[in-house]
Amino acid sequence: MNVNSIDLTAQYESLKEEINGAINKVLSDGRFILGEEVLEFEKEFSKYCGLSYGVGVNSGTDALFLALKALRIDRGDEVIVPVFTYIASALAISYTGAKPVFVDIERESFCINAEKIKDAITDKTKAIMVVHLYGHPVDMEPILEIAMEYNLKVIEDCAQAHGAIYKLQASGCKLQERKAGSIGDIGCFSFYPTKNLGAFGDGGMIVTDNKEIFDKVRILRDYGRIDRYHHQIIGYNSRLDTIQASILKVKLKYLDRWNNLRREKAKIYNRLLKDIDEIVIPIERDDIKHVYHIYAIRVKKNRDILCEKLNREGISCLIYYPLPLHLQETYKNLGYKRGDFSESEKAASEVISLPIYPELEEEKIIYICGRLK
Ligand SMILES: *Cc1c(COP(=O)(O)O)cnc(C)c1O
Repeated sequence: MNVNSIDLTAQYESLKEEINGAINKVLSDGRFILGEEVLEFEKEFSKYCGLSYGVGVNSGTDALFLALKALRIDRGDEVIVPVFTYIASALAISYTGAKPVFVDIERESFCINAEKIKDAITDKTKAIMVVHLYGHPVDMEPILEIAMEYNLKVIEDCAQAHGAIYKLQASGCKLQERKAGSIGDIGCFSFYPTKNLGAFGDGGMIVTDNKEIFDKVRILRDYGRIDRYHHQIIGYNSRLDTIQASILKVKLKYLDRWNNLRREKAKIYNRLLKDIDEIVIPIERDDIKHVYHIYAIRVKKNRDILCEKLNREGISCLIYYPLPLHLQETYKNLGYKRGDFSESEKAASEVISLPIYPELEEEKIIYICGRLK
């Protein structure tokens, strides 16, 4: 039996008519750039996140970059970011001229370790970028406290966490449910096709409750333009295409259902894998909703051999991520060395991710776990 890491055609088949209808409407309207679907999707997605404002952009990477620009992050500044994430998180910081400052992760959640953030703060630090990795929300409360104490901005990289929920124990108040992206100053999303909410090409969005940030990002993504003929700042060309917005508008209605299906698949995996000594299954803390963009387990021994064997048998086994950012050639100049971030290096040598997507059949999961054993 062959099992791919994801099956994008299954999702399209199930919504073919609705999506084709949406695309055809854009084709006959002819408003391919900043058409009404972009505005509508911005409103709908920001509302879904529990926020007032959304700005559609080119990609998740651009969402992060423009968020940093809107917060006036510049050359000479430093931004804290986990060392175990996709490289785009750090690249966006580098694009501004600022320096990414890496922090290790927690063993259980694979997310940034809040206890290690303070040691990385200098008088140049302007912001903390958190990454809700694999779809597991970061423990935000201690991070918000640090940000408050040191007057830092908080940017959430939500590229893997559309619809994930964190229950914030707001100071003294009762528990409050918050979607990923609505907890810090700005939430940044990617709609890359394989993400939990994916377009048929590149796309991204910034969400916020801050009107000033909203206005700034809207200008930044469109050549710094304030009206047809007037340009205020050096802006960029980074807009979400109308066609992509029309597709995402259709798909957004199904996001919660798809996330719940992912959670069901993860439960099946957990049940079948929990008693294998050499494997550590993912955790989900009681006060959060994990959306399993990736189902990652730790394999304590012979990870690479196992992964190769599974792939050879037609079962997709991927490694997110085999090399933490401080060991990437890109960031050689930052002067880090092997041994600097022990949890991230350990994770990089132990994790594998197994196929997970809403349409994945239970029998395939049973088969995969059987072969794994
Ligand atoms: C996918 C991803 C990005 C980049 O998004 P693009 O839309 O591909 O630019 C950034 N951060 C993380 C954690 C991601 O998984």
